[in-house]
Amino acid sequence: MKHNFGAGPCILPQEVFKQASQGVLNFNDTGLSILEISHRAPEFVAVMEEAIALVKELLKVPTGYSVIFLQGGASLQFAMVAYNLLAEGKKASYIDSGVWAKKAIAEAKLFGQADVVASSKDKNYSYIPKNYTVAADSSYLHFTSNNTIFGTEFHQFPDKKNHLVCDMSSDIFSKEINVADFDLIYAGAQKNIGPAGATLVIVKDEILGKTGRTIPSMLDYEKQIAAESMYNTPPVFSVYAAMLNLRWLKAKGGVAAIEKENITKADALYKEIDRNPLFKGTTATEDRSRMSVCFVMENPDLEKPFLKFAEEKGCIGIKGHRSVGGFRASLYNALPITSVHVLVEAMQEFEEKNK
Ligand code: PMP
Repeated sequence: MKHNFGAGPCILPQEVFKQASQGVLNFNDTGLSILEISHRAPEFVAVMEEAIALVKELLKVPTGYSVIFLQGGASLQFAMVAYNLLAEGKKASYIDSGVWAKKAIAEAKLFGQADVVASSKDKNYSYIPKNYTVAADSSYLHFTSNNTIFGTEFHQFPDKKNHLVCDMSSDIFSKEINVADFDLIYAGAQKNIGPAGATLVIVKDEILGKTGRTIPSMLDYEKQIAAESMYNTPPVFSVYAAMLNLRWLKAKGGVAAIEKENITKADALYKEIDRNPLFKGTTATEDRSRMSVCFVMENPDLEKPFLKFAEEKGCIGIKGHRSVGGFRASLYNALPITSVHVLVEAMQEFEEKNK
């Protein structure tokens, strides 16, 4: 039995894998695969509509916002956000909390002034920057709600008066949020949404069309919204499996219910990291991520042996990113608490063996 702690693409529920494979073989008893029907066929249009309706329902998206599925990953959003929201001659503000934020800043600079108002680079991104001021004439404030690589997460979002734009790639659908506090939210699908390929964007309609730029159609939110996520051929399988995964989340009780489970899972692992003398966390305690749990060993020489030991117990995907080292256990929605227990037991057994 494998316990998949991979950072993404990541674990999805077994029943979603089963339903998705059934759809590949014989979609809704049509005798056809989801992969061979037209994206304009009513059967697929219904899939797209249900996926969008589930996003709206699960995140309680208010009226005045559009939900679209695009391609290009969260990385294309780094550029699209600035292209669509950073007016000519204006500036935007960015919080630099890690690798993904830095990439977003670099892309925004292609379109105008992108000011870094706060950074945690001084301590290898091990905390969430908190004291900063944002210029009143800034078009928006961009931040990354969960730093997948460094294991920090915003548990309190910046002030909404700053026109928040958020990369929620690695913690969307993990906890309740108030969409009305944001101008725009985006996320690559391959964590809590579904398989890689689709990118989710939730945007407040009234902020669009104000930059004075001519935007290529594929990169223009307004055109994508008008085309109902079908400006061109959408990533049909990714959207289909995302729809199945969001149905799974709804059946589990929605975001509030999964948030409770996610808190329990993260608490159990951090408790062991803090208790076990062999291990230590790498981030500021108050900023610890519930999705991306980063930790190292007091004795780095034991890291390779522990990785092997944990793998023998079925725990895979826990090797830390090279910029932090050590370990990273991703605890996405579909990871059951029993997998966390297996990892905690492995840490305890390893402690016994190394006494
Ligand atoms: N932002 C965050 C927070 C991420 O974790 C990732 C990928 N892990 C990205 C952006 C980049 O996503 P994509 O590969 O979909 O471009």
